[in-house]
Amino acid sequence: MRTIHLALKRPFCINSYNLKISISIGGAICPKNCTHVPILLQQVDAAMSAAKKKQSEYIIYNENLESDAQFHLEISSKLNSALEKNEFEVYYQPLIKIKTSTVYHFEALIRWQVAQGSFIPPDKFIPIAEQNNLIKGITLFVLNEICTHLLVLKQASIDACIHINLSALDLLDDCFSIQLDKLIKENRILPHQLVLEVTETAAMNDMATTKEVLRRLSRQGFLISLDDFGTGYSSLSMLLELPIKQIKIDRSFVNLMQQENNNYSIVKSLIFLAHQLNCSVVAEGVETKELADQLIYLECDYLQGYYYSKPLPIGQLLCYCQQAGN
Ligand code: C2E
Ligand code: CA
Ligand code: CA
Repeated sequence: MRTIHLALKRPFCINSYNLKISISIGGAICPKNCTHVPILLQQVDAAMSAAKKKQSEYIIYNENLESDAQFHLEISSKLNSALEKNEFEVYYQPLIKIKTSTVYHFEALIRWQVAQGSFIPPDKFIPIAEQNNLIKGITLFVLNEICTHLLVLKQASIDACIHINLSALDLLDDCFSIQLDKLIKENRILPHQLVLEVTETAAMNDMATTKEVLRRLSRQGFLISLDDFGTGYSSLSMLLELPIKQIKIDRSFVNLMQQENNNYSIVKSLIFLAHQLNCSVVAEGVETKELADQLIYLECDYLQGYYYSKPLPIGQLLCYCQQAGN
């Protein structure tokens, strides 16, 4: 398999164009994995899909792949009806603004309860919803919940701004900005009450379309926040290309800040750089007071993490705000 990869690594010259291709190989071993040809082919297919997903050169079939595929299939079939059965809920995690403000900031995070007390984590089902074209329905559900909850907060005299996570497919949808505009007008919400969180990976899918969609949304008054900042390959160029007004430093940097000197320097430089570009900075995954103090010292604008609060359902969020206001 290595030989095949090496042979295909060099570009092909076709009509004076240098074309590079990538290849993902899946394998299964006969008779170790199976002796029945149709099943062997299914195993090879599962291994090839896993190699594609993990961007590995090749993967040989093993039983774990089977349980991954089984899980994928199970979630896919359940997802179809989850929206209709109203199985989703939106929780909110506070973002603490360091300079005092009367506006509360929260990130909306979807929850899928499949049994009493048993949740399927969003980072497991969101990618599957994206593949099955169900993500737009999910985004719309979260948006509608946010509108209802903004009203509940307003009735409790809480001025709030809510962050929503957008998926790659939302950013490729030309109608998304029109849909969003209609929704906020119907619910008497102002654009600055919604912050749209996008990841670099989502934006990279089709940079030209994403850029156009985000520019339109930014002109409409929505604030765009670059999520998981620092985990991709070209976070810095994203800052220059897209109308970004905020970066969220990924928790992998934030959490290692106290242990590794290099990470401290990276976070310090990122905060400085973002401020130079007129962007505010959120640090994700703040779990201890020491970390919070360090980030405040570095002039980070917002802190988010379990040290302050876990994501909460709307009822508990109201109690949180009432306690925080006292
Ligand atoms: P994210 O956008 O980076 O969200 C932050 C994740 O970190 C959340 O996980 C949150 O619960 C968790 N978190 C917050 N503070 C801490 C902390 O101090 N320590 C640790 N260990 N974790 C912390 P969650 O809710 O499981 O969401 C995972 C990912 O799923 C999100 O990552 C986001 O990419 C995606 N997601 C969640 N809700 C939605 C949604 O409504 N739509 C879309 N498209 N994606 C969503
Ligand atoms: Ca986020
Ligand atoms: Ca994040």
